Amino acid sequence: MYQSFIGLEIHIHLLTKTKVFCGCTAEFGAPPNTHVCPVCLGYPGVLPAANAEAMKMAYIVAKALNCDLSSKCYFDRKHYYYPDMTKNYQISQFHDPVGRNGYFDIDVDGDIKRIRIHDVHLEEDAGKMIHSGRTSLLDYNRAGTSLLEIVTEPDLVTGKDAEAFIREFRRMVRHLGVCDGNMEEGSLRCDANVSINLKGQGLGTKTEVKNVNSARFVRKALEFEIKRQGRVLGKGDKVLQETRLWDSDNNVTASMRTKEKAHDYRYFPEPDMPPFCPDEFFMAEVESRMRELPLAKKQRYLNELQLSVDAAEFLVEDRLFCDLFEETCALGGDPKQVSNWLCGDVQGQLKRAEVELAQSHITAARLNELVQLVDSGVLQRGKAKEVLELVISDDKDPAVIVKEKGFEQVQDDSQLDGWVTQAIDNNPQAVEQIQGGNRKTLSFLVGQVMRFSKGKADPKKVTEKLEQALGL
Ligand code: ADP
Ligand code: MG
Ligand code: ZN
Repeated sequence: MYQSFIGLEIHIHLLTKTKVFCGCTAEFGAPPNTHVCPVCLGYPGVLPAANAEAMKMAYIVAKALNCDLSSKCYFDRKHYYYPDMTKNYQISQFHDPVGRNGYFDIDVDGDIKRIRIHDVHLEEDAGKMIHSGRTSLLDYNRAGTSLLEIVTEPDLVTGKDAEAFIREFRRMVRHLGVCDGNMEEGSLRCDANVSINLKGQGLGTKTEVKNVNSARFVRKALEFEIKRQGRVLGKGDKVLQETRLWDSDNNVTASMRTKEKAHDYRYFPEPDMPPFCPDEFFMAEVESRMRELPLAKKQRYLNELQLSVDAAEFLVEDRLFCDLFEETCALGGDPKQVSNWLCGDVQGQLKRAEVELAQSHITAARLNELVQLVDSGVLQRGKAKEVLELVISDDKDPAVIVKEKGFEQVQDDSQLDGWVTQAIDNNPQAVEQIQGGNRKTLSFLVGQVMRFSKGKADPKKVTEKLEQALGL
């Protein structure tokens, strides 16, 4: 039987405002070649200078991945000739990257797997080529934007492992605020390397599947590759070391180019940039920007707060939801209850209103207030949706909305008792039926009381009072 080995090379665009070695804005979507300068266009004689924020983000990710952090890292030139790289080399890190020898834990169907990280290095992205007919167009807006590459050891075994890794990693960088994690737009890209071999024989000859733009497709591409390589070896043939592309229309990988010899990039230290030695202030800031990572959070939500798997998964997908959840609990909200609100009505209302949580006017104080209003019986559970909708649209506190809309339920016992008595006195037949064992008719009496109260009585309380009055 064969065993499989998978190693990932993940590239993320760091959320820096400017490019990594010049002052050009790193913003997306501008007209082609408007965010360029002599440095990122590779004019002779210009000097690159490292972006301090990119360095910080690189160390933050390397630290989160439990790497040994370099105390003196520098950049190397990686040479290759291609029109999207005007200098004919890319400034990258090879000999002494930001981080090495780390690990990252992932959860595959409840099993925690530890994946070793080979290294984390900072580099510049290339420009973008657009091919149309016999013409190729070049847009250098992306040239020189900060790219962080994370290389794993070949510790992943299945396509599912790889998918779980990407999802967990994506969550992590989003929680750390260093990347938006958008795979479709290319902010997070993944090349997947895979080989198979007979058990006990170590790594096989690998193929690399490039440019896959979703975690699910990475899984499918790898599953396809593992089967394909199995067929090749089964026939007694050799797997070719090659780069392949995933064809999501036909669910197959296809050869792009063979890569028999290792590329000679002629790496050498970038002579135009001094080594970077993080000082204590730099490291203190890196430290201050670390947070509890999503996997640890999820486990805490499950084990300490007893949330459901679905609720925990939902919350950790988004740092803002986690923050809102934790802040609301800190105000005294019951974790289970608060998480139910967030996964249910809050999420639902945001979707309906097409508003992001950050812009929604929903705060921990307001969410807590809303939960309390329902809990204490002031607001009917059914009306809470409407209140939430108004919090989002009108930016007002729930209590204010409840007052303005006249949503308060009647809490006054003597008033409720009056209506209950009235309902009983007016409907002797119904009472007879109920006392004869027909409990369904009770809801008719509840309805009567609700009518008297113009919908402002708490149906639960009314039911209780009726039951008591009728000796049920
Ligand atoms: P290359 O020089 O072809 O880029 P690297 O040694 O840099 O290869 O490794 C790139 C990625 O491929 C890493 O994630 C590594 O874990 C993985 N990898 C390397 N060799 C194998 C192999 N034989 N089978 C599966 N994955 C591998
Ligand atoms: Mg490589
Ligand atoms: Zn520039």
